[in-house]
Amino acid sequence: MRLTGRTALVTGASRGMGRAIARRLADDGALVAVHYATNADLADEVVTLIEKDGGRAFAVQADLGTPDGVDVLFDGLAEGLTERTGSTELDILVNNAGVMGGTPAGETTPEQFDRLMAVNAKAPFFIIQRAMAHLADGARIVNISSGLTRVANPDEIAYAMSKGAVEQLALHFAKVLAPRGITINTVAPGITRNGNPVFDIPEAVEQMARLSAFNRVGEPEDVADVVAFLASADARWMTGAFVDATGGTLLG
Ligand code: NAP
Repeated sequence: MRLTGRTALVTGASRGMGRAIARRLADDGALVAVHYATNADLADEVVTLIEKDGGRAFAVQADLGTPDGVDVLFDGLAEGLTERTGSTELDILVNNAGVMGGTPAGETTPEQFDRLMAVNAKAPFFIIQRAMAHLADGARIVNISSGLTRVANPDEIAYAMSKGAVEQLALHFAKVLAPRGITINTVAPGITRNGNPVFDIPEAVEQMARLSAFNRVGEPEDVADVVAFLASADARWMTGAFVDATGGTLLG
C-alpha cells in the first residue's frame, strides 16, 4: 500500500490500459479518479471493482477532444477530490486517454487529424498546465505514448505524430517541475490487449505476438505495473525519461 494517502487521476480509465492502471494504483492505496469520455457504465464498473477490492475511486467524465474538455475534467476532479479529501491536491497524473487512427495517410482527413492531435497531444498539455496548481510537491506525471514513435506503420502516421508530440512533454516539463520534486516520464506500450475485436482473432493475435521478444501481445497489467513504478517513491530519480514498455518490440 505504498500510495496510501495519495490521490491519482487516470485519463481514459474506463477501458484497456487506463482501467488496469487505475486498478493497480488503487490496489497500491491511492484514491483514484477514473476518467472516461462516453462509457459511463464501464467507468462505474471500474469504480465498483476497485471498491470491491477495498480501494477508493470515483468516476469523472470529459470529452478531451472538445475545447472545454479540460475544464470539464478539472471541475469533476475538484468536486470528487474535495468531497473525499477536503482538498483538490493531486499526487499522480496519468495522461493515458487516446484515440487510434487506423487510416492510411492518403485517406486521413483534416478532421481526423485534428481529433488525433486534440485528444492525444493537446489535451495532455493543457491537463498538465491545469494540474500544476493542484500537484503536490513530489507528485508524479506519466504520459502514455506508443512504440509507434520508433517503428514505422503507414496506417498510423498521424497517430504517431500525435504520440511524438506527447513525448516532448516529459523532456521539457521535467526541468520546470524538478524544483518541486515532481517527476514526469513517458511510457511507450507496444501492442497491448484492449477491447478491440482484433484480439478475438487467434491468427491476428499470433501475428501481433511475433513483434514482441516475448512472443505474446501485452496485457494491460504489463503496462500498469510499469506506470505504478513510475508513480511510486522508488522512481524519484527518474524524470524526462522515455520508458519502453513494448515487451521488446523495439529491439527490432
Ligand atoms: P482503449 O481501450 O482504446 O480506451 C481508450 C480510453 O480513452 C477509454 O477510456 C476512452 O473513454 C478514452 N477516450 C477515448 N476518446 C476520448 C476522448 N475524446 N476524450 C476523453 N477520453 C477518451 O485504450 P488502450 O488501447 O488501452 O490505450 C491506452 C493508451 O495507450 C492510449 O493513449 C493509446 O494511444 C496508447 N497505446 C495503445 C496501444 C494498444 O495496443 N492498445 C499501444 C500503444 C499505445 P470511453 O471508454 O469513455 O470511450
